[in-house]
Amino acid sequence: MVRIGVASPGPLDPVRGVILRTPNIPEWQNFPLADHLRAIFGVAVTIDNDANLAALAEWRYGAGRGHDHLLYITVSTGVGAGVIVGGRLLHGARGLAGELGHVAVVADGPRCGCGQYGHLEGLASGTAIARRAQEALAAGEKSSLAGLPAPPTATAVARAARAGDALASRIMAEAAGHLGRALAGFLHVFNPEVVVLGGGVIQAGRIFLQPLENTLRREVMHSAYLENLTLTTSALGEDAGLLGALTLARAKTVY
Ligand SMILES: [Zn+2]
Repeated sequence: MVRIGVASPGPLDPVRGVILRTPNIPEWQNFPLADHLRAIFGVAVTIDNDANLAALAEWRYGAGRGHDHLLYITVSTGVGAGVIVGGRLLHGARGLAGELGHVAVVADGPRCGCGQYGHLEGLASGTAIARRAQEALAAGEKSSLAGLPAPPTATAVARAARAGDALASRIMAEAAGHLGRALAGFLHVFNPEVVVLGGGVIQAGRIFLQPLENTLRREVMHSAYLENLTLTTSALGEDAGLLGALTLARAKTVY
């Protein structure tokens, strides 16, 4: 049987195949993408959140293989996530669960991509890192980033941090600390056996992962949460969402 699997940014309704709202494609408000594609191609269409599908793929084929309790968190422009609990992708009542990037970490913190304030995404994403660097430079802080021809991106901040720039290192460590604090909370909620970290910001390596781990160890409420926990990076990289869409399309039961 031929089917189409779609990995799309959310929030979306995977049961009805409707994109509720996606900030980067403003035309797709309550857009019935599954019906639309079905009308064009004449085959069944399955849709899910791209981060959920990346979690599914890392669990089936990637860094989380063999573990039925998994968190997948991708830190790039935003912070996406997917949760596998007891060998099932967590969907919640309407397919909206697992949005770990949209958990409030700091009261009255910076505005998030979703429009709310103080969410993890607004504090630890690549967008947040770039914004913090630009704010610090505008405030006159000294850094090698000040000599760049354009406002610094998260990639530029990571590069400067690796080269020993104090401001860039501090900004990376702050973002990682927010993720570490949130992750301690996620361990308390889900008690996973593996946490898979993906996305461009994670590519920064030790300058991000070390402060993340330090905060996690300090803020977890009992060391039992860390025993036998594997904290690892994505094995499938940018293909994870596509492989997840394929997995979904091949699944016999579709919601
Ligand atoms: Zn948010």
